[in-house]
Amino acid sequence: MTDLADHLLQLQEESPVLLASFDDQGRLRYANAAYRVAYGIEDGEALSWSEVMCRNAAVNVGAAVNVGAVMDAAQIEAWIASAARIEEGGAGRTIEAKLRDGRWLLVHESVSAAGWMLSVGCDITQLRADVRAVRRDRDEALRAAHTDDLTGVANRRFVIARIAEMLERCAAGEGARVPGTLCVLDLDNFKYINDRYGHQAGDAILRDFAGRISGQVRRSDCFGRVGGEEFVLVLPDTAIEEAVVIVERMLALVRASRPLEEMPDFAYAFSCGIAAVRPEDDFEAIYGRADKALYAAKMAGRNRVQLEEPARVRDGEGI
Ligand code: GH3
Ligand code: MG
Ligand code: MG
Repeated sequence: MTDLADHLLQLQEESPVLLASFDDQGRLRYANAAYRVAYGIEDGEALSWSEVMCRNAAVNVGAAVNVGAVMDAAQIEAWIASAARIEEGGAGRTIEAKLRDGRWLLVHESVSAAGWMLSVGCDITQLRADVRAVRRDRDEALRAAHTDDLTGVANRRFVIARIAEMLERCAAGEGARVPGTLCVLDLDNFKYINDRYGHQAGDAILRDFAGRISGQVRRSDCFGRVGGEEFVLVLPDTAIEEAVVIVERMLALVRASRPLEEMPDFAYAFSCGIAAVRPEDDFEAIYGRADKALYAAKMAGRNRVQLEEPARVRDGEGI
């Protein structure tokens, strides 16, 4: 028996797992090496559990540097107070604690029927790093899922979702002063540009265009690429007259751009069709009207902004 107890003690002393037990008065009665190192406890030091927690909390003056758990004053008080609520003989409780040395521990505390507490801590730093990596990958995947690779602006899927949101808000009659507008922007003569200057120059122009327009959009707006050289601007809460002013300003910026270094005189432009949200609109309806306006802009000579045709008024409602 003594032999077994000795072996157990030896094993516990050498274990990387943090182990400590406190008696029914909360006095530290045993702490293995891993626990003593983590919480900065000297050999043979008599401490209560709350002293161990406190001396290592950020609030404690004179605590050894780089040992113990990182908690602020309010947290530590609540933590100490809640220890009284650990059910004797029950399942205990588990927390994640960050140590000052940067490690993360998963700490489990349980209390025996006799009122003694066993504290067991496992180093989960690596586990947390893995979780962080998974989170980072997930965030990156989410970003990629709604970003256009070539230009870095929103992609078709994201833009369509924003248009659907704008239509829903309008259908629900939500808050907006005016329902919003949809602008479809298409670069002019892009096939010719590609043929004349090469596909790489074409790509550079697409990036120049996307960068210039992105710099002009408000946080509540959405600008994205829906096809080859076709882009969309979703302007919620914006009247069609305001939208024209916004897009005209963009067109002036684009006309002034000289995106090809080796062709300092090269300039390009776009045409734009604009439609305002109507209460009965679905995606096809509003996109169809904006597209029709875009076609009219192309027919009228390109390099311009064209509003949709006014809504036809039903019989009896007057013009
Ligand atoms: P319009 O003024 O009537 O819009 O004429 P357009 O030549 O711009 O229109 P069209 O739709 O005939 O041609 C679009 C061209 O855009 C065809 C295609 O080669 C080019 N294009 C589509 N996607 C890309 C891309 O990712 N990179 C480059 N460089 N070109 C692209
Ligand atoms: Mg085009
Ligand atoms: Mg096109």
